[in-house]
Order: sequence, then structure tokens, then C-alpha cells
Amino acid sequence: MHKGMAMTHGKTQDSSGVRASYTLLLIFLFLAGGILTTGYLYFQAHEKQYLRKAGQELTIIKDMKVSELTQWRKERMDDAAILFRNSSFSKLVIRYFNNPEDHDARKQLLEWMSKFQGRNEFNNIRLLDIHGFTRLSVPGNLTPATPGELKDISEVIRSGQPSITDFYRSGNDQGIYLAVQIPILNEELGHALGILSLRLDPKEYLYPSIQHWPTPSSTGETLLIRREGDEVVYLNELRHRRDTAFSLRLLLSRKDLPAAMAVLGTTGIVEGIDYRGVSVMASIGVIPDSPWFLVSKIDNDEIYAPIRERLWIVVIFVVLLLLGSGLGVGLVWRQQRLRFYKERYKITEALRVSEANYRVLFREMLSGFARNEIICDSHGRPINSRYLEINPAFERITGLKAEEVVGRTILEVFPSLEPSWIEIFGRVALTGESIHFEKIASALGIWFDVMAFCPAPNQYACTFTDITERKRAEKELEQKNRELEQMVYVSSHDLRAPLVNISGYSGRLARLYEKIETLLGAMQIPEELRKDLSSCSAEMAESLDYVQSSVIKMEKLLKGLLDFSRSGKVEIKTERLDMNDLIARVFETYSSVMNESGIIKEVSDLPECTGDKLQISQAFSNLIGNAIKFLDPARKGIIKVSGRREGRESVYCIEDNGIGIAPEHQKKIFDVFYQLATSAGGEGLGLSIIHRIMERHGGKVWLESEAGKGSKFFVQLPGTMK
Ligand code: ADP
Repeated sequence: MHKGMAMTHGKTQDSSGVRASYTLLLIFLFLAGGILTTGYLYFQAHEKQYLRKAGQELTIIKDMKVSELTQWRKERMDDAAILFRNSSFSKLVIRYFNNPEDHDARKQLLEWMSKFQGRNEFNNIRLLDIHGFTRLSVPGNLTPATPGELKDISEVIRSGQPSITDFYRSGNDQGIYLAVQIPILNEELGHALGILSLRLDPKEYLYPSIQHWPTPSSTGETLLIRREGDEVVYLNELRHRRDTAFSLRLLLSRKDLPAAMAVLGTTGIVEGIDYRGVSVMASIGVIPDSPWFLVSKIDNDEIYAPIRERLWIVVIFVVLLLLGSGLGVGLVWRQQRLRFYKERYKITEALRVSEANYRVLFREMLSGFARNEIICDSHGRPINSRYLEINPAFERITGLKAEEVVGRTILEVFPSLEPSWIEIFGRVALTGESIHFEKIASALGIWFDVMAFCPAPNQYACTFTDITERKRAEKELEQKNRELEQMVYVSSHDLRAPLVNISGYSGRLARLYEKIETLLGAMQIPEELRKDLSSCSAEMAESLDYVQSSVIKMEKLLKGLLDFSRSGKVEIKTERLDMNDLIARVFETYSSVMNESGIIKEVSDLPECTGDKLQISQAFSNLIGNAIKFLDPARKGIIKVSGRREGRESVYCIEDNGIGIAPEHQKKIFDVFYQLATSAGGEGLGLSIIHRIMERHGGKVWLESEAGKGSKFFVQLPGTMK
């Protein structure tokens, strides 16, 4: 039994332990999920914000470069404006072209041109005729114009407006140059005479200005490009590769090349792969009034470096948080396991102790103990049972040894056992309800007091004691009681006959005494003798009074005794009793005394009960009579009667606010002839009779009382079926 309980307990413990572990695992997963999501979202937001900032920075740089270049071109055109439509200069050119020997004109022209040489980035100033021949040059060499230059020259002559050429490679020194070309116009004839070409070296200002990156960056650079057929041509020197100007050309079909995107019309921020094959972020712009595009770009590696750094910080933080929460949850788990094992140990220990106690009890107890397994027929009806274990007391009581009992059936051990025993035990084993009963095993001739319970399904265990001796004593006592009662009845009945004689003869004596008194009064006797006689007669009268009052008291006592012994004899005729009616009738019999003393009665609605009308009336009459009798004269008497149903029983209460009963008397007042010193009249039998009536009805009477405050007498009787 105990092992079974231990296992069930262990199992519940285990499953609750596993449940707690799962809960903790879930908590950890939840925490981990939260940490990872937060980390991811934080990093994503940070990356987005950082990339937006990087793009903004690139755009600012690109815009700055575009405006610098535009400004530069405007300034160069302003330079051109000084000599464009300058009639003094045109006249000198006409003079010189018409007469190359005009030294004065030549000298003046060279003076004009020298003024520009060295100004800004201009490093070579040439005067060309409309056929593209160099007529004058500062400094000296009359280098012929390159085919690219010639193309631009004819364009300038045709338009009659100054312009800045594209980058070109010089045929002489293979250097890369640009030129501001100003048409020299014959104002009178309205056509061009030639061109003044101011050559610029981009290496001096343009390239450094484009290349300059305003923020500290290891990869940032700006490209100036233009389209040529299906190629993109890089016009400036680059940061990451040498000699690129004019020589680096890449196909437009490279769709991810930011430079190709630029010449194909994309603007703004783009991501792509640059000329080195490196992933970059770029901002694209257009230089107005020129075929040039500008790309400011920076390597993604550089942009992403701080992001990657932040990623690492986030990862480390997340890992630390995960480790922390894992550690926390792990600690809680460990704590829980520890508590769990401790509790388990405690339970096992408690079980071990209780098992040991159980064994000691089993061995030492005076009651017999047996545990049996019930055996049923095919309909599930109990027909026998098998002994599983018995204790030494079992052996002592039955005189059988454990070897003869354990493993065998109850009918094998006690073949003539009444079937009712198996029926009772079967009910305990099959329904699980416990039972306490006294029963004789006729086969053994032994009375048993048995307590049976169900320790496991289909089993019963019982403890039993041999009460044969007690039963015999009880029977004897009953017999003696009956004899005693008969004696009381007979003697109280028989004593009344002589009492009637005493009463009758004492009455006669009294009458005779009165007669003697009268006769003596009429007689003439000496005064001395009269005195003696009258003192004797006074004593006689007093003695007669004593005799008569004792007779009355004796009569009352005998009547009480007779009532008492009758209350145990008369047959009980039970019926359904309307207690509202019964109590009203009882109160009626006390109406005059109650009215005289101004006693208040309070009766609530009372439930019905079952009983003998006469006896129950007598009981309640006695109780209400006592309540009136023992009221406190110092205060107005109140008597309350109430009742309620309690399960199958009806319980009534008669409450008074009288003198009450001290605790030491409360137990004894139901004893025969018991009266308190304060008692007024009565024989001390009323409550004994009530007690007996209730016992015979299967009811109860008890009280609650406080001296000086009042008493409550409770009566419990079988209720009525509703
Ligand atoms: P008696 O004939 O004296 O009334 P009972 O058996 O009826 O005999 O009562 C026993 C004693 O219990 C009484 O003498 C009285 O002292 C006490 N007693 C009974 N009822 C009450 C009560 N309602 N209040 C106070 N004392 C009571």
C-alpha cells in the first residue's frame, strides 16, 4: 500500500518537475527570440540610417564638385570675353594677316597674347587662321593644330561664339589639354578672321580640384567622364589607377558600372561595381553646357566598415544577453531541481518513517489486521477474498498461523463464514467506502468490532478486535437493568399501598386530635394540667403536619419514579408531528402562569418531526415548564422556541433568559434525582425522563447555558420525509 502511494507520489512529482523544466525552456526561448529580434531590428534600423547618411554625404560632395566645375567653366568663359569682339585686337589681327611683315602689329599681338600666358591655367596662347594654321604662338613654337582641335576650330568659326573645347591629347607632347577658343571677327565684313586658342593644362587646377575629397576617406573619389560611341571615357586622373585620363575606356554594356549608368542618363545615388571591379556607392551628376558627367563614389567596404563594426557590437551584445538569460534561466532551473530533489528526499524520508511506523504498528497493534483481495463471480458479485497479509494480532485472536492464512481464501480458512461478511467486505473493496460495524462470526463464536477500508482497488483492509467479552457483559448489564427497573417499578407501585394507609390513618389521627382538643376545651381541669396538655397537643399537631407533608413528598417521589420507569416501558407509537400545533398546546397549559408573570413567548415556524405524540408533548412540556420555573425574577422573562431541519433530522431549541446553569452542573442535570441547590421544587426527574424519551426515539437532548444569562435546550428528533 505504502509503496504504491510512494510511486504515485513520485510520478506526480516527476511530471510536475518535467512541466517546470519545459516552462523554463519556453521562457528561455521566448527571451532568446525577443533578444534576437530586438538585435536584428536595431541593427537594421541603424544600417538603414547609416546608409542614408552616407548617401546624403556623397550627394553633397557630388553637388559641390558639379558646382565647382560649372563655376570653373564660367570663369574661363569670362576670360574669353576679354578678347571676344575686341575691335583693337581684331584690327591688329587684320593688319598682321594682311601683311605678315607688319612687325608692329606682330609685336602688339604678341604683347596681348603674353598677357594671357601664365594667367590662370593658360600655358599656351596661339593665334590661328581660319584654315587652322598657327600664325603666332606664346611661347614660341608654331605647333600645328591636332585634328581634334581643328574640328573644334571649324565649329567655333561657324558659330562665331567662344567656347571651351573638350579634353584632347596634344599631337606634340602627348599631354592632355583643354582650350578656350575665341573667334576673331572682322566686324566690317562680318566674318571670322581666325581663332585665338588659350590652351589649359588640367593637371594644374582641374584635376586636383576634381580629385580633392573634402572628408577623410580612404576610397572616396570623383570621376569626370563622357560618352564616346558605345564607350565611356574617363577624363581625369584617378585615385586608384595611374594614367587613366583619356586612356581608360569601358563599354557601356557594363550595366553595373556607375560611369556607364551616368552617361546613359541615371542620376542620384546608385550602387554598382566600379572600373576596378570593386563594389561602390556612387552619386551621379551632370555638368551643364558640357558633354561631361560627374560621379562621386566611395567603396562599399569603407561605408560598411562602421556598420560591420556596429554589427559585431550588436552580435557580442546579443550573445552576452543570450548567455546572461541562459545563465539566469539555468540558475532558476538548477534551483528548482535542487528544491525538487530536496522535497523528493523529504517525501521519501517521510514515507520511509511512516512505512517503519506502519510496520511497528502492524506488528505491535492489539487489533487484528488483514488485507485481502476480493474475488468476484462472472457477474462482478463478490463471492470470496484472498488473504494478502495478516498481523501477529490476527494470529493471536484466531489462533491461526500466517502460513495457514496468507495466500488462501477466506472461505478456505473459515469454510462456514456467513455470506454477509463477504458481502460487506466486497462493498468496501468495490466502492471504496469505509465501514465500522460489530458482528458475530458464528463459525468462531466470536463477536468482532471491525473497521474496514479500501487501500487499493479491489482490495480491503480491516482491523478488528474481539469484543465477545464486552458483548457478554453488555447483555448481562441489560438483564440486570431490566431486573432493576422491574424492581423500581414494583416497589414504587407497591410502596404506594402502605403510603395510602399512612396518609389515610394520619388524616384520621388529625381528625381525632381535633376532637380531643374540642373535648378537652369543654372539660373542667386544673390549670397546671391544662398547660401540660396544650404543650403536648402543640407537639402532636406539629408531628402530624410533618407526617402529612412527608407523605405528600413521598407520593410525588413515587409518582415520579413510576413515570420514569414507565417512560422506558410504554410502547412508542410514532407519527408525523405538527410541532407548531404541539408547542402551541403546551404553551396553553402554562398560559395563566405566563400571563400572571408577564412572560413573553417567541415561537418561530417549526419543522415537523416523527415521534410519539404523548411522550414528545411531555418532553417539551417539561422543558418549557423548567424554562418558566427557572426564570430570573430580576428581569422580564422571555422564552423562545425555534427549529430547523438538519439533513434528515429536525432540531428544536427552547431558550430562556433565566438563571442559567453553571458549567459544572451541565453534564449532571440529566441524571436521575439531580437538582441544583438553587432548584425550586421538583424531584430532579424531568430531564432524566426527557433524556430517556429522546434515546428511545433515536433522538438527542443537550444544552448550552451560561449562569446568570439563560439556557438553551436543544432537542433533535427524526424529521419527516419530504
Ligand atoms: P426538576 O424537577 O428539579 O425541575 P429537572 O430534571 O427537570 O428536575 O431539572 C434538573 C435541574 O436542572 C433543575 O433542578 C434545575 O436546577 C436545572 N434546570 C433545568 N432546567 C433549567 C433551566 N431552564 N434553567 C436553569 N436551570 C434548569
